[in-house]
Amino acid sequence: MAKIPTAQIVAEVTRKEYITDHFIRVYLYSPEVQLFKGTTVGDNNKIAVPPAGLNEIHFPTLDENHQWVYPPKELAPAIRTYTHRGIDLEKNELIIDFVDHGDGGPASKWVREAEAGSKLGVMMRLDGKELYPEANWYLLVGDATAIPVISAILETLPATAKGVCIIEVHGKEDEQQLKTQADIEFKWLYNSQPQISSGIADIVRNIEIPETAKFGYIACEFSSVKEIRTYLRKEKNWTSQELYAYSYWKAGSAENESQADRHKEKDSLG
Ligand SMILES: Cc1cc2nc3c(=O)[nH]c(=O)nc-3n(C[C@H](O)[C@H](O)[C@H](O)COP(=O)(O)OP(=O)(O)OC[C@H]3O[C@@H](n4cnc5c(N)ncnc54)[C@H](O)[C@@H]3O)c2cc1C
Repeated sequence: MAKIPTAQIVAEVTRKEYITDHFIRVYLYSPEVQLFKGTTVGDNNKIAVPPAGLNEIHFPTLDENHQWVYPPKELAPAIRTYTHRGIDLEKNELIIDFVDHGDGGPASKWVREAEAGSKLGVMMRLDGKELYPEANWYLLVGDATAIPVISAILETLPATAKGVCIIEVHGKEDEQQLKTQADIEFKWLYNSQPQISSGIADIVRNIEIPETAKFGYIACEFSSVKEIRTYLRKEKNWTSQELYAYSYWKAGSAENESQADRHKEKDSLG
């Protein structure tokens, strides 16, 4: 299989904005942002978060056996997956939106403390990617970690598309005005403790699904994704082509610890 071209750069925070109380946007500058000119907004990236107190990025490297070799613990970054939320080729800036879920994870802690000049490693594929297929009706379901990808989808849907968008956020104050030309019904639900449980799958169960060409994009916590996948695939007989569902995080596990489980769940129903 041909290798997907990728690049890794070190970028510096130029500014940081609280979009809502628990949702932080960072603008990251580097002349090497030009490398990413062919990327699709909404695709995912990998960020390299330096250890607390160090403002240097020491990327892992691939050895001759294609195994990752990490620098010593005091230099090694935490690698996390985020969404490519925007690119400004005139300013050489990338945009990444972070959910502030506290100090318990390196990425969330980093963004809370980030200021102008804070460094972040960003790795991403260089070519474009189709985020969703053409359909008449869309079901977009996510928690706050999926707001970046759902926003990118909504911004590119045609005016003829219809659908329902269900988003779980910390509280009413975390609702956002998401732009779209499409005819989308928005449903917001509030959950200040998503690591304990979520009612998002119940909301999905109450949606009336029309008989037409449809596509679902589901991205939230592991247990909810699993429940929604089972409901749509088994009870509603959606095909695998009609659904992209992937857990963006798993309660109680850091991203690197849950990766295998999340991949396995993604492939569980074929
Ligand atoms: C394809 C993809 C795209 C993603 N895009 C984004 C994005 O654009 N913005 C974004 O904010 N996140 C995004 N995520 C989710 C993000 O990767 C995870 O939330 C990640 O675990 C955060 O890393 P961390 O270092 O803060 O916490 P970790 O060290 O991974 O986890 C520490 C603890 O925090 C818990 N935790 C992790 N995330 C949350 C959360 N959101 N709420 C409550 N508890 C949590 C974990 O269960 C664990 O117990 C994406 C994930 C994927 C797979």
